[in-house]
Amino acid sequence: MSLRFKNFCNLKYEGGLSQIKNIKNSIKLSANESALGPSKKAISAFVKESKKLSKYPDGNSNILIQSISKNLKLNPNNIIIGNGSDEIISLACQLFLKPNDEVIVTEYSFLMYRIYTKTHGGKVITASEDNFKADISSILAKVTNKTKIVFLANPNNPTGTYLDKNEMLLLRKKLRNNILLVVDDAYFEFVIKKDYISGLDLFKNYNNVLITRSFSKIHGLASLRLGWGYGPKNIISGMKLIKPPFNVNSAAQVAGTESLSDKNWLKKI
Ligand SMILES: *Cc1c(COP(=O)(O)O)cnc(C)c1O
Repeated sequence: MSLRFKNFCNLKYEGGLSQIKNIKNSIKLSANESALGPSKKAISAFVKESKKLSKYPDGNSNILIQSISKNLKLNPNNIIIGNGSDEIISLACQLFLKPNDEVIVTEYSFLMYRIYTKTHGGKVITASEDNFKADISSILAKVTNKTKIVFLANPNNPTGTYLDKNEMLLLRKKLRNNILLVVDDAYFEFVIKKDYISGLDLFKNYNNVLITRSFSKIHGLASLRLGWGYGPKNIISGMKLIKPPFNVNSAAQVAGTESLSDKNWLKKI
């Protein structure tokens, strides 16, 4: 008899490729990495941390939680740090999904929503978009009594479209209360439209919305794998219970902390 393993997922993430040959100093854009790199302060913190590599990192990433909490005036109990926002997406699926639970994603959405949904036994339901933009009525039409989570990146990658403040509020209002809305804020810093508001600013007091944020894009720290989640205390506590004990390395923790406070650098980017 051969070994049997659970085989929920048949998708694999392929990072953005660089196909250009024979051109010097080309800038790769296909993974949305920062062309300008991280803050100098983040780099110094990283180098300094290299002297302590024999120690385990702080499993709660307290230094970074405190800095996020102070910078954005958020309650630390509502914050969890992840190995990339990727890990927050995974933990949300792990915490919520039972076999055959349904997760709604939009047509051209981040592949990781689908991969983690499947990995954790859920079923991916795809809502069509309207001219490459998430479509609220199409999302709502896909809701069944098995729907557990709706994932939405706002603005979205790779389409670059966004739902405005009123559309986001309408979506939350029309979704059943016991469906978790996950708003992926990975690119919120890049939108300057007046009718746009980040998931965090819009939903921070909601009991059924989880926000993800990333240090991979504007902070230029993709390699360190650093992101965070903000949500109601019960969900954040639940995720903290099941996360790996040392999920975020110490170099990422200190570099992220420095980057957050380097306001001039972020503004420049
Ligand atoms: C790049 C990206 C992220 C960031 O993921 P990390 O795990 O934090 O590197 C999240 N969501 C979307 C839609 C992205 O394009």
